[in-house]
Amino acid sequence: MRFNDTLKNIKTYEAGKPIELVVREFGIDAKDVVKLASNENPNGCSPYVAKAIAKSANKASLYPDDSMYELKDALSSKFSVTRENIIIGAGSDQVLEFISRALLMPNDSVLMSRVTFAMYEIYAKQMGAKIIRTPSYQHRVDEFIEEYNRHKPKIVYICTPNNPTGDATSKEDVLKIINAISEDTLVVVDGAYMEYASSKDKKYSITPNDLIEFENVIYLGTFSKAYGLGGMRIGYGIANTTLINELYKMRPPFNITTLSLLAGIQACKHEEFVEESITLHREEIKRYEAFAQELGFDYIDSYTNFITYLFDETINSTDISDKLLKEGVIIRNLASYGMNGVRITIGTKEQNDRLFSVLRRVLP
Ligand SMILES: *Cc1c(COP(=O)(O)O)cnc(C)c1O
Repeated sequence: MRFNDTLKNIKTYEAGKPIELVVREFGIDAKDVVKLASNENPNGCSPYVAKAIAKSANKASLYPDDSMYELKDALSSKFSVTRENIIIGAGSDQVLEFISRALLMPNDSVLMSRVTFAMYEIYAKQMGAKIIRTPSYQHRVDEFIEEYNRHKPKIVYICTPNNPTGDATSKEDVLKIINAISEDTLVVVDGAYMEYASSKDKKYSITPNDLIEFENVIYLGTFSKAYGLGGMRIGYGIANTTLINELYKMRPPFNITTLSLLAGIQACKHEEFVEESITLHREEIKRYEAFAQELGFDYIDSYTNFITYLFDETINSTDISDKLLKEGVIIRNLASYGMNGVRITIGTKEQNDRLFSVLRRVLP
């Protein structure tokens, strides 16, 4: 069998390790496993959302409302855009896939920062596109403009706040990059963690409305992180209607489940849950900063629900991640991103206590 040639240089995406794997491989009790690897909300989701899902279990036999009228309505009020400006995906990941398929042809190129969300590369490579990266992991305006001018990529990805580094790009800098790019190039502004950045510092707050006037810009958001709904797979893209209509051609029917739609609608009605989570999070992330200072290693100032620790040559991130895993603590090793560091999702107070005590024990 001959597979599509583009598959030859694609590495399969490696998701955060599931709790079940640690239970199976290391014989640790599931209740003793702490997963701080996938940037999920440790407080779960809004109880109103959980109740709505449970109450509607019998709707599982029905196809969902394919127009997604109510969820689009909720998002359009939340962001002051029209329903026609919105496309909803099974996670914003699916919207990224639509974008890639709608725009890229073999030998096109895409531009992103040196260390960023792994799926941009995978979706682009599926279409045979070339990957261009800026020298820095941060989104530096001068580097983006220089690489853009050199390669004229078809898509430019701006991940702010950036995963897996946790730093953010100011609205002013994002607009500088957008303004330097011609309308032949799509700029994707991925705001998967925007709720955290907006609450930390207004300079980093970007809303779809800030971008919608640009014909060649799309804003992506998700319910997977701050809203605590990773398992429901709901994300969205917001842009001008011409762009949204083209992306719609890539969409399979019924791409969002009946229960996921309900969950998203309830989540929009109970935003207080997100605010409360962020308040708890703010206290806990301070402990991670203090921990790094105490043990003497660097960290990247975080605008997200995770923190990235950077190690010097006396500490090996793969070694540390393996040792933590054997103790039932799952974090994300960044070695595959070319960084000697780890990304840790900020958990509940108890989960964080456990992480600190085990990490203290395994550090050289
Ligand atoms: C988690 C994440 C997404 C998408 O998550 P979905 O669960 O597919 O909505 C997109 N971009 C970044 C940077 C992320 O971290």
